[in-house]
Amino acid sequence: MTFEALGLHTSVLKALTEAGYTKPTSVQAQAVPAALEGRDLMVSSQTGSGKTAAFMLPALHKFALASEQQDAPLGKTPNQEAQSARSRGDRPRFKAAQPKMLVLTPTRELALQVTNATDKYGSFMKRVKAVSILGGMPYPKQMQLLAKNPEILVATPGRLIDHMESGKIDFSQLEILVLDEADRMLDMGFIDDIEKIVDATPETRQTMLFSATLDGVVGNMAKRITKNPLVIQIAGSATKHENISQRVHFVDDLSHKNRLLDHLLRDETMDQAVVFTATKRDADTIADRLNIAGFAAAALHGDMHQGARNRTLDGMRRGQVRVLVATDVAARGIDVPAITHVFNYDLPKFPEDYVHRIGRTGRAGRNGVAVSLVNHAESMNVKRIERFTKQLIPVDVIEGFEPKRSASTARSSAKPGGWKPGDNRGNAAKPGQRTFSKPAAPRKEGGGFNKGPRTGDTGGARRSYGDR
Ligand code: AMP
Repeated sequence: MTFEALGLHTSVLKALTEAGYTKPTSVQAQAVPAALEGRDLMVSSQTGSGKTAAFMLPALHKFALASEQQDAPLGKTPNQEAQSARSRGDRPRFKAAQPKMLVLTPTRELALQVTNATDKYGSFMKRVKAVSILGGMPYPKQMQLLAKNPEILVATPGRLIDHMESGKIDFSQLEILVLDEADRMLDMGFIDDIEKIVDATPETRQTMLFSATLDGVVGNMAKRITKNPLVIQIAGSATKHENISQRVHFVDDLSHKNRLLDHLLRDETMDQAVVFTATKRDADTIADRLNIAGFAAAALHGDMHQGARNRTLDGMRRGQVRVLVATDVAARGIDVPAITHVFNYDLPKFPEDYVHRIGRTGRAGRNGVAVSLVNHAESMNVKRIERFTKQLIPVDVIEGFEPKRSASTARSSAKPGGWKPGDNRGNAAKPGQRTFSKPAAPRKEGGGFNKGPRTGDTGGARRSYGDR
């Protein structure tokens, strides 16, 4: 299968050649033809599968054709009209932007990533403009962006609702609605916002929903907002992360954990790494400590201003930052191919987050390493992750860094629920490898799994990372 065979517009094909893409990924090969026919889609696929291009390429194709069919130059932008009105002596007023496509994302980082990808895929098209509407960005700057009447809006739900309510955006001309990482948006409590936004769009729209899972609440919502959708399931290997070598190291205490982390960060095969912490404060403290130890480290979390977050991510992309120390929400959507290692300094609150975290490495078909530093009291949480991913995570011990307490109890009795031998391709504990099945003891440190409602960022309320 080639991109040419998908029948994409030449300007899109040129951009793909420029990007170095030689053939469509599985989700692209399945989604693009149906999307080009105008069908609604319900797609279960992970970040890293090439899902952005799966919805953006057909949309750009459509806009390229529409722009060819327009012989006359595009009409005046709302702002130009406002200026003409001013020169006629009319009362100036801001005219609402009328986008043709809306992509909703759970986080600012993902929104920026989608906007950047759109710029890349649309780089040979003259008329298409994509802008991000995000919390944390100054309102006047967003008003300027909206005044250009962009064809494509990529937005986080909270800030978008603000602009809708103040009459700055009119969705009556919307043709395509995309919900990216829909399950995360629901997890983060955006269901009411999403329904409000969907209700403001025309019934005639094409709807494409992408999610790690199509089960439960997200599946029900997907069915409500799509019409006769093509259902595509890609999750399989991406969820299993077969290209990522996972392991657990047991630690006795924080000092042991810090020493081990420093040692692992000096691994010669490591290019760049993300270290996940449970709290924003830990992210700052550990980044400072690693800097003092000589690593080019930086923190990334929801208490930082958007400008600082962007600068840190740019530093990561340019390779100036080697070790990013991040909380879950801040790190969602990060797509830096040189990230070879992910470290769970603290285990995530939810097993699904483990899958998202380790997916920061092994991007676009590369290999990656994911290491969890765990105290013995957290064995049960490791098991929950294993049950969720249906994979065993081998326990590793490094000479000189052995935990005082042995983790050698056989694991045969600890077969995770639902897990079947043979499901764990490549990640099973090897014969002779140390395994564990200690019962959970009272916790001393680190985060246990939280069964309560999610918050937007660890250690804060839903909006604490300033989505508006
Ligand atoms: P996504 O799942 O959209 O976040 O994409 C993951 C990564 O795969 C991004 O770095 C994309 O640039 C890259 N990518 C997407 N489609 C292709 C393709 N067909 N060939 C090679 N890389 C791709």
